[in-house]
Amino acid sequence: MPELPEVETIVRDIRPALVGRRIGRVALSHDDILRGVTRRRLYSGLRGATVQSVFRRAKHAVLDLGARRLIVQPGMTGSLVVYHRPLTPDEARYAVLRAELDDGRELVYRDIRRIGKLLLLDAAGWRRYTEAIGPEPLAPDFTPDRLGTSLGRSRQAVKKVIMDQRHLAGVGNIYANEALFAAGIDPSKPARRLTPDDHRRLHSEIRRILEAAIASNGTTVRDYRTGTGESGHFQLELLVYGREGEPCRRCGTRLTGTHLIDARISVFCHRCQS
Ligand SMILES: [Zn+2]
Repeated sequence: MPELPEVETIVRDIRPALVGRRIGRVALSHDDILRGVTRRRLYSGLRGATVQSVFRRAKHAVLDLGARRLIVQPGMTGSLVVYHRPLTPDEARYAVLRAELDDGRELVYRDIRRIGKLLLLDAAGWRRYTEAIGPEPLAPDFTPDRLGTSLGRSRQAVKKVIMDQRHLAGVGNIYANEALFAAGIDPSKPARRLTPDDHRRLHSEIRRILEAAIASNGTTVRDYRTGTGESGHFQLELLVYGREGEPCRRCGTRLTGTHLIDARISVFCHRCQS
């Protein structure tokens, strides 16, 4: 699943081609990716609308169309691309949403397995949507104290809490594993047992790693591609994710991989993280 750095990369790539453009013809190949909106309402909401801005919230791309907002939640295999040329048959095959722009380009939401979702929200819907999500980790209002408050209330494993979108936006399995390693915190540790010093370290490592991953255009493990169709590079800098059984880069101990904390793989060094 693309996390914050991957969606941020996509949004930065497609933004220059979209802002100020008017949407013309729209075509949706399958209804099963729509949430809370019908095909008819999607078409009428998009057609003739001008893209005011393009930004990211949590792991989602948002197109502000004035009266409405189109939310794209890319699943494992979802991506957003602006094409300057006709699509190849292979590109057209997996293009779920196609929106013609007034300069002849085309915005395409492509999703091979169609695990992604599309929402079209009015102002009230947007408020409900965004208020249900926690702070953006790179925004000024995300402070060590705010992180500490979320963690202090929870008996759950710290890894689960920082991946819970109600507490923190945009962090998924890859960056949770990396941030906890960098901060020297055992991912299974009950969140409320962390100290204020842990909060400060974890807060700063979450930010540092997300920013470094954005600078590398995100992490491509399998399907993720940037808004220009290329791979990210942060997979080359991962210290624990995908390295279970391999030596810790800091102390040489064999890294532990477990599915006991949540359904996802957790990888950590039992010597460097406590
Ligand atoms: Zn180690």
